[in-house]
Amino acid sequence: MSYRALYERSIQERDTYWAEQAARIDWHRPFDQVCDYHQPPFAKWFVGGQTNLCHNAVDRHLAARPDQAALIAVSTETNTEEIITFAQLHVEVQRMAAILQNLGVKKGDRVLIYMPMIAQAVIAMLATVRLGAIHSVVFGGFASHALASRIDDARPTVIVSADAGSRGGKVIPYKPLLDEALRVCSHPVEHVLLVDRGLAPAEMQSPRDVDYASARAAVLDAQVPCEWVDATHPSYTLYTSGTTGKPKGVQRDTGGYAVALASSMDQIYCGKPGETFFCASDIGWVVGHSYIVYGPLITGMSTIIYEGLPIRPDAAIWWSLVEKYKVNVMFSAPTAVRVLKKQDPDCLKRHDLSSLKSLFLAGEPLDEPTAAWIGEAIGKPIVDNYWQTETGWPILSLARGVDPSLKTRLGSPGIAMPGYQVKLLDDQTGEELTGADQKGVLTIEGPLPPGCLQTVWGDDKRFVQTYWSTFHNKLVYNTFDWGIRDKDGYYFILGRTDDVINVAGHRLGTREIEEAISSHAGVAEVAVVGVADQLKGQVARAFVVARDPARVADAAGCAALEAEIMQTVDSQLGAVARPARVQFVGVLPKTRSGKLLRRAIQAVCEGRDTGDLSTIEDPTALQQLQAAATT
Ligand code: AMP
Repeated sequence: MSYRALYERSIQERDTYWAEQAARIDWHRPFDQVCDYHQPPFAKWFVGGQTNLCHNAVDRHLAARPDQAALIAVSTETNTEEIITFAQLHVEVQRMAAILQNLGVKKGDRVLIYMPMIAQAVIAMLATVRLGAIHSVVFGGFASHALASRIDDARPTVIVSADAGSRGGKVIPYKPLLDEALRVCSHPVEHVLLVDRGLAPAEMQSPRDVDYASARAAVLDAQVPCEWVDATHPSYTLYTSGTTGKPKGVQRDTGGYAVALASSMDQIYCGKPGETFFCASDIGWVVGHSYIVYGPLITGMSTIIYEGLPIRPDAAIWWSLVEKYKVNVMFSAPTAVRVLKKQDPDCLKRHDLSSLKSLFLAGEPLDEPTAAWIGEAIGKPIVDNYWQTETGWPILSLARGVDPSLKTRLGSPGIAMPGYQVKLLDDQTGEELTGADQKGVLTIEGPLPPGCLQTVWGDDKRFVQTYWSTFHNKLVYNTFDWGIRDKDGYYFILGRTDDVINVAGHRLGTREIEEAISSHAGVAEVAVVGVADQLKGQVARAFVVARDPARVADAAGCAALEAEIMQTVDSQLGAVARPARVQFVGVLPKTRSGKLLRRAIQAVCEGRDTGDLSTIEDPTALQQLQAAATT
């Protein structure tokens, strides 16, 4: 079947199509209805069906592939490599599930996972869904304030964490950040389960804190069956940034997610049972959830979880893993490739890459030179894919598992994937733009296909208001990305329509960074914008009005306050959110009604035309900013 025919079928014969896809996973109880969309925009998939994510990722492979590697945990930080087979994973997950159960975790409870990239992080995720509980993984690079706000929103029974992570050879203690978060948050967390890697001293508070190794030793023979849950039962929440300062908990179901991942693994990533998948992302992001953990394991593939940098001990490390573990499919982000591009080109030639079929890149725009360079360097097809935390799997890509002849168009992440009714709308009128090469807001007609967010955790109203209410009288899902479609249906992504920025593939809300900076006593006002950057795609830059102008009267004063502000961001949100520069101005450019002119600030920083400024309150503000931005 041609891809076009398959796609059309996924839209025109939606329920038949998805019922067929559902056969890719195991069901404990078959579903009665494929899609219930009688309360738009809330879509319920596979209603009446019962299944379990952990069963599909682990137990169901025990018969056919017990001794195949399931998890390959590699750390170039601790110089360790561990292979865990499906049979061993089954044992470890049950032990972890028993520990969580003993700590009071029941179906529907939340387990927050704040972990470095180690096997126990994946084991904790699988154990949580095995119990029908809901995990909420918080990226290990986030600091105490960001962690506390997520704890208060998710209200977990247990937090699973570790003494420390390590990055570039530098130990990053997690426990003090967690302790600080637990001190400032208002939700009472009953237990912390701590994996002690022996990297950093961790102060244990009895009886709240429990040592994983001791708890595990007490449950070595644990047998914990999977809790069968409704297909619509939440499997996890994952926080992501938007326009407001408060991150949203994207809530994912169970059955729809498993089906969507199984089908995307075959149709898009061309991953087969028994093969090896290497996704060099982090479990703290959606790519890690879908394509380090669930997608490969549901498919019966071996998956690599990698702690370390792409250039340490040298830039050949990834390719040495491809050779050693016969990686068939690889997934990374454009920034990582741009980092590799600056290294010794010989690193790419040292290893046998014959097992590798393709390299997939996602998370941020893939520029043509980067795509062309890596394609040439490794001699493999490079496939872009565009999606979001909210959707859980690609909206746009090339489904080469369906039609291998689908061609890449440089600069485009591809065409609409099955089930996604992508539409470009005029941002002013909301009218659909049906012609070629017209710029509009990229939207998706409901129901969103299986695997996409069900709602915002604990806040249905916010789900509707944030994603479905942009256009008057039109119920469509807003991606908040600008897009263009060419005459052949290939889309081009032109950046966000909101205040979200994308630094090295990490999605950050400028408002969150502004809030952290504002908490510094020396700051009166602040504006944070994302500015184009050759390596990271974008970086954050902050413009601050100091409370006491005398403090920033000279270069030394500016440098001192800049360092303090960066430290504030580091300790509240984490270094991942630290602006590249903090600069000082006397006044920020605003409209007469007091709205910050972010686009104009961004344009100044990027040396572009600022556009219409007729509403600006103080025209000198932009000149000041220009002077500051160019120092
Ligand atoms: P996240 O939720 O962190 O995955 O970030 C999603 C956002 O990253 C999207 O809304 C886009 O702005 C951007 N993005 C993700 N993948 C791509 C891609 N392949 N090309 C262009 N932008 C992308």
